[in-house]
Amino acid sequence: MASLSRLAEVAVSEVKGLAGKRSQALANSGIHSVADLLHHVPRRYIDRSRKVPIAQIPLGAEVTVIGEVKAVSTRRPRRNLAIIEAKIFDDTAMIKAVWFNQTFRQRQLTVGSQVALSGVVESFRGALQMKSPAVDVLDSPSESLETGRVVPIHSSAGNVSPGIMRRAIHNALTRSRPIGDPIPPAIVADNHLMSRDQAFWDIHFPESMDRIGPARHRLVYDELFRLELALALQKRIQMFDAVGIPHEPSGELSGRFISGLPYELTGAQKRVLDEIEGDLRTAHPMHRLLQGEVGSGKTVVAVATLLNGIEGGWQGAIMAPTEVLAEQHYLGVTSLLADAGLSPDLHGPGSDLGMDSLFTSDDPAVHFALLTGSRAAANYKPEISRTELLEDVASGQVDLLVGTHALIQEGVVFSRLGVAVVDEQHRFGVAQRVQLKEKASDVVPDLLIMTATPIPRTLSMTLYGDLDVSIIDEMPPGRTPVKTSVLTPMEESTAWKLIMEEAAEGRQAFVVCPLVEDSPKVEAASAVAEYERLSALMPDLRVGLIHGQLRPADKEAVMAEFRAGDIDVLVSTTVIEVGIDVPNATVMVIEDADRFGLSQLHQLRGRVGRGEYPGTCLLIADPTTDEAEGRLAAMAGTNDGFRLAEEDLRIRGQGTVFGTRQSGVKDLRLADILEDFDTLVAARRDAFGMVDDDPQLSGHPELAAEVRAMLGDSVDWLFVS
Ligand code: ADP
Ligand code: MG
Repeated sequence: MASLSRLAEVAVSEVKGLAGKRSQALANSGIHSVADLLHHVPRRYIDRSRKVPIAQIPLGAEVTVIGEVKAVSTRRPRRNLAIIEAKIFDDTAMIKAVWFNQTFRQRQLTVGSQVALSGVVESFRGALQMKSPAVDVLDSPSESLETGRVVPIHSSAGNVSPGIMRRAIHNALTRSRPIGDPIPPAIVADNHLMSRDQAFWDIHFPESMDRIGPARHRLVYDELFRLELALALQKRIQMFDAVGIPHEPSGELSGRFISGLPYELTGAQKRVLDEIEGDLRTAHPMHRLLQGEVGSGKTVVAVATLLNGIEGGWQGAIMAPTEVLAEQHYLGVTSLLADAGLSPDLHGPGSDLGMDSLFTSDDPAVHFALLTGSRAAANYKPEISRTELLEDVASGQVDLLVGTHALIQEGVVFSRLGVAVVDEQHRFGVAQRVQLKEKASDVVPDLLIMTATPIPRTLSMTLYGDLDVSIIDEMPPGRTPVKTSVLTPMEESTAWKLIMEEAAEGRQAFVVCPLVEDSPKVEAASAVAEYERLSALMPDLRVGLIHGQLRPADKEAVMAEFRAGDIDVLVSTTVIEVGIDVPNATVMVIEDADRFGLSQLHQLRGRVGRGEYPGTCLLIADPTTDEAEGRLAAMAGTNDGFRLAEEDLRIRGQGTVFGTRQSGVKDLRLADILEDFDTLVAARRDAFGMVDDDPQLSGHPELAAEVRAMLGDSVDWLFVS
């Protein structure tokens, strides 16, 4: 009995027919071990039981014919045109196949070989003909592998042709069988899974076409089960093997903060806060993902969470992805704290007694500071140097620090970091979380990761599968959805007219300039040019400019002017993408919108319609691909970020989405998380259940070995005891 983890240790070069150069070619395609080889499943199958004798082919139908190549020739009637013709004979009749400019067909089709041609048959000058059919070269018909009713067609890899691949997999499989099944019988039965051994056989060499579906289902289940086991183990380690903080939120600060808000929390905000508070109270560190559309009120939730920790004597941190956003959080949270009466009184009684007097027990002031690469600031001290601030953080004088991800991870020592909020998860993976833990000496702070990028459930169950998820699925009352339309470049004056009308009403607008891949310099230059053009087009308006090449202080100055209403139209590159909050802005114009991704467009649109005035988003575009057209139509069709995110995943495919995350998800070979969503849900339930009962998988050593063997280095650390 062979196990998959064992087969993962046997090199493909051991397989008969794959020694030497061939194993090198396979390695280049990511096939290193016998286990890899067995997961190289056919890309399609030719069903010989349904093959049609050439003499009986119905015209106009799409069919597969199988026969012997009798002749191949290439003609060149014109320059730039090569016509390749082949004659195929199957004992009943002859059929002609033609291809245009596919000169490799001449080499592919050798006289005497067996081929399967798939395509539409037509009549041409009285003879049967297939135009540009798909070709599969079969090996000699005497060989048993091809005489079955279904012929598997495996993708080739370098010099390893489908035929060689098929024979090698046949060899490997016959040598390896029976393949053991480490999944408990109860789970196998519950999910109506066929045996693993049978599944490997049937996916490669099915007796009939109806064997393929159940075989694939079994292997997809196994693959997703392994992934979810890894995530369950990871979560287990984060939560239970780490020393967390059993916070005891008193409500002293957070309650005061919430009741001081000029509005009621939405039901969704209250629910999410309850979920978070539950996590804070347990002794396990929180790892929670807070999802909510742009403008759904995540910031308020984050501040309340941080105050929950601070009122128990701990420090809090907010990590933003950029300096501009860190600045903005500093401004926004400072004024929220001031409104709630939680700011230090710099000028009132006691202010001349020095710092220490601020720490009397009945003083509710929250000492809040900002640290970015270019600036240090604090709400309790008008002037503060960087060194001074770092000292205050280390000594515990600072209750709450906001900065960029990089800064807080690398340079800052806290005295008692208890709660951390990460704004935008994208650049914050498992490795960074581990770093954060080291900063906080002996305990792991509770961690809340906020994201405005809606994550479809398919992804939150895989990519972020180790996190708990809270969703704010309700907007504050009184918002009107942003209206979105697509304009051609010819119609752009509509956009400028709208901007001028809105400006006359005292509103403001964004104009986002074309994205320039990989070249911030060129992108900035094009923004400058657009700024000049629009300034001339709208001479009565105050036009501003912001782009990534500006120094942080200059960027912040421009943003401050825009916030203050001293700029009517802000021409910008995508630096405004995330988090910029100017409720008075009502128009978002995006130029060359077809070059932006769906989530980026949605983020940008979220910058308007945040206040009491309805917003408009105008996408100027001249799409040249179906994909781009699809994105624009999706944007105009819905404001629902979750639907857009699903759509995005569908358009881009899971590979690109997983590219930057380190989990084993990118290694999925069979499963498609959209198509196989139901299987994913089942596998996740079963895997998490198993780890709940058996946290070390000590009763399932073979499964543990398999997770490790199949998911590779990225999960090694799970098994360090
Ligand atoms: P997000 O961080 O999710 O993008 P914010 O927290 O910045 O959203 O909130 C967007 C705006 O909505 C802010 O101006 C905030 O003051 C306001 N807001 C938040 N919660 C509510 C609420 N429950 N009722 C009314 N307005 C709210
Ligand atoms: Mg806790």
